[in-house]
Amino acid sequence: MPFNRPGILFVMTGASGVGKDTIRQAALPSIDELFFSVSATTRPRRPGEVHGKQYFFYEKAAFERLLAEDALLEHAEYVDDFYGTPAAPVKEALAGGRDVLLELELVGAREVKRRVPEAVMIFIAPPSLSELERRLRGRGTDSESRIQKRLARAREEIRAVKEFGYVVVNDTLPTAVRDFCSIIYAERARTALLSRRDIANFLREL
Ligand code: 5GP
Repeated sequence: MPFNRPGILFVMTGASGVGKDTIRQAALPSIDELFFSVSATTRPRRPGEVHGKQYFFYEKAAFERLLAEDALLEHAEYVDDFYGTPAAPVKEALAGGRDVLLELELVGAREVKRRVPEAVMIFIAPPSLSELERRLRGRGTDSESRIQKRLARAREEIRAVKEFGYVVVNDTLPTAVRDFCSIIYAERARTALLSRRDIANFLREL
């Protein structure tokens, strides 16, 4: 049934190290027309990360300017650094009927839900806390104190799982990607997104 629907805002949240990036990167090629919003951050660049690709990397002063200009849809402090979503590209995509995916920690996810109640909230859970710790250490990108802070934050986030409409357990990547894609496609197929005018136009053709 051909119809125009508004863009859907998807929010993906889950503990650091749970595999959000991996799921997204594996899923995006098989999901058409999903715009991924690149965040701004003050955290140091990891090897291989490119400005404008994984993040827009800013000094604290520049990040504060974005805040002062009200250029961020949401922002949060996470393990000694700031992260935020540039508002303009998200608003533009949604206004043009395109779906948008945000990848956020819990504070930012809550802020988006408050501002955009119809946002679709997806929580990515680890199969266990010990597996999460193993993955964080295996990544080799964080100091021991940062790993401890990330694990503490992970417990807090998992406690909030019921605030999300969906949960995907990242046990094996193929099943997590399958579940993630299913959520996106099921949400796109909701009849609540159909407008009465489009239905009327469709019927007029017969
Ligand atoms: P990392 O330093 O591992 O790249 O990201 C740390 C955490 O910040 C992750 O949980 C990630 O999803 C979250 N994050 C990334 N971008 C944003 C953003 O724009 N806003 C918020 N609130 N969290 C973000």
